[in-house]
Amino acid sequence: MQAIAVLQGNELIYMEIQNIIERIHDEVKPLSAYGKVADYIPALKNVNPDQLGICVQTLDDKTFGVGQCETPFSIQSISKVFGLTLAYKALGGEIWQRLGKEPSGTAFNSLVQLEYEKGIPRNPFINAGALVISDIILSRYKFARRELLEFVRDVSGDARVDYNEDVARSEREHGYRNAALAYLMKSYGNIHNPVEDVLDFYFLQCSLEMKTTSLAKAFLYLANHGVVPFSGKQILTPSQAKRLNSLMITCGLYNEAGDFAYRVGLPGKSGVGGGIVAIIPKKLSICVWSPALNAFGNSLAGIEALERFTTYTKVSVF
Ligand code: GLU
Repeated sequence: MQAIAVLQGNELIYMEIQNIIERIHDEVKPLSAYGKVADYIPALKNVNPDQLGICVQTLDDKTFGVGQCETPFSIQSISKVFGLTLAYKALGGEIWQRLGKEPSGTAFNSLVQLEYEKGIPRNPFINAGALVISDIILSRYKFARRELLEFVRDVSGDARVDYNEDVARSEREHGYRNAALAYLMKSYGNIHNPVEDVLDFYFLQCSLEMKTTSLAKAFLYLANHGVVPFSGKQILTPSQAKRLNSLMITCGLYNEAGDFAYRVGLPGKSGVGGGIVAIIPKKLSICVWSPALNAFGNSLAGIEALERFTTYTKVSVF
């Protein structure tokens, strides 16, 4: 068992992270029986819902894990954070000419708002926003597919991270809503590349498979003013990292973002594969994976685990 030092207020306290996540694992695991795996992507519907992995990765390079923390899973919308990072790096604040920064209050794949708001998605984490980001990446990166993968391998320190082409194909064959979003935006001039190319890239990005240990590590640059702590590489400026974290707080869990902020108190991003990653600035990142989802498409046990983590440790951003 390892203990780490965490600064809370003016007081240096020591917490036994491993003990805490093992306790949380045992407490929230039964909840997976009450959720439902994402079945609208056929390749995901056979995932065993009764799984839970938790990994905490500290900035000073300590890793704590429990349960299925080394099992690769489909990161789905968590990948939108990597996509946004690449687009933001390339274009800076110009990206906000094509999408907003407001919570949508609607489902991640909703079409309703997009028509009223003339093809400008509310934020980069709903599907419409991520499709615009994919379009920007295709325009700005010559070898987009390879460059995204290299980026994720680099920030996670895991050279085995890869796309799952079967999952991408499966979603491509059934992704009618995403196609509708993309074509609607094309009609408003907010998709510049051929729609089919944008959809292909978006589905590929969503198909990335990672384990909680690699994903937690990959988010450390967001907890560290934009710098990857183990390589020293500056990915985003401190200001950009701040803004990306702010967007995760307000929009990272779709129309459950308010409830998540209230319960957990951390910037985080979820995916319909059942993963959620959250960060505590200057301290750590935590990744939870449990594939059974609630009605909003977020991991049921995952949210509960994160709420307990900030409650038991008394550390959040507030
Ligand atoms: N690939 C999924 C979709 O586009 C991502 C959704 C999610 O993870 O929230 O529907």
